[in-house]
Amino acid sequence: AARVVARDLVVRFGETVAVDHLDLDLEPGSFTALLGPSGCGKSTTLGVLAGLQRPDSGSVSIDGVEVLGSPPERRPVGLVLQKPLLFPHLDVARNVGFGLRMAGALRSHERAEVADMLRRVRLDDLGTRRPHELSGGQEQRVSLARALLRRPRVLLLDEPFSQLDPELRADMRTLVRRLHDELGVTTLFVTHDRDEAVDVADRVLVLDRGRVVGGGTPEEVYTRP
Ligand code: ADP
Ligand code: ADP
Repeated sequence: AARVVARDLVVRFGETVAVDHLDLDLEPGSFTALLGPSGCGKSTTLGVLAGLQRPDSGSVSIDGVEVLGSPPERRPVGLVLQKPLLFPHLDVARNVGFGLRMAGALRSHERAEVADMLRRVRLDDLGTRRPHELSGGQEQRVSLARALLRRPRVLLLDEPFSQLDPELRADMRTLVRRLHDELGVTTLFVTHDRDEAVDVADRVLVLDRGRVVGGGTPEEVYTRP
């Protein structure tokens, strides 16, 4: 697990200041929710950490190494988005293994890694299915397996379960918690849902208009008016 430090991040889109001098400290192995209303800069912040969004200024380090110059694939980061974005023509195992080998058959040790990760997300028997044969929850478990396959030190999730029904969302939160505990990955979970943030995380950061305006333990955030 890695320590993630962001300092004085600024991201502007024209007149809009999406991220406004934001500081972030994620302890190694911590599980943090980034909570705030739609449009407050959660996705943009995650994009900066993942390397998908270049900030106008500021710095991001992972275990003391500045990462702002490195492309997403060079960062020790796994990313799960709201929409799973699976390859429709590839089966589940190939979708999960895509980052290891984009073309050609997987090597046997790679197949073993994929099988191990499918087991961890409880998709043991679904490796040969195509994405259109999966439920929404299964698709998000494929995304999780893919994000975790290369054992990232940081896991970033952007409203990963917001398209699932409430009961399934609770199940999926339990699964993410277990994967976090088993793999010891520093986790940042973006949500606009306070109940979800409080349920899933050990620490909640409240974002408003691109700034961290509060936070604390789930109990503190839950009982605050
Ligand atoms: P959240 O994830 O909290 O909903 P976002 O990070 O998506 O917030 O957006 C923060 C602000 O930046 C919003 O005002 C949004 O409209 C704006 N924004 C986000 N991405 C872009 C973009 N690519 N171009 C222009 N404005 C953007
Ligand atoms: P989310 O709800 O996940 O934050 P949105 O629906 O706000 O996503 O935005 C979808 C896409 O459009 C994202 O890639 C975001 O960066 C971009 N976007 C958001 N707001 C704007 C904007 N005002 N102008 C241009 N692109 C935007």
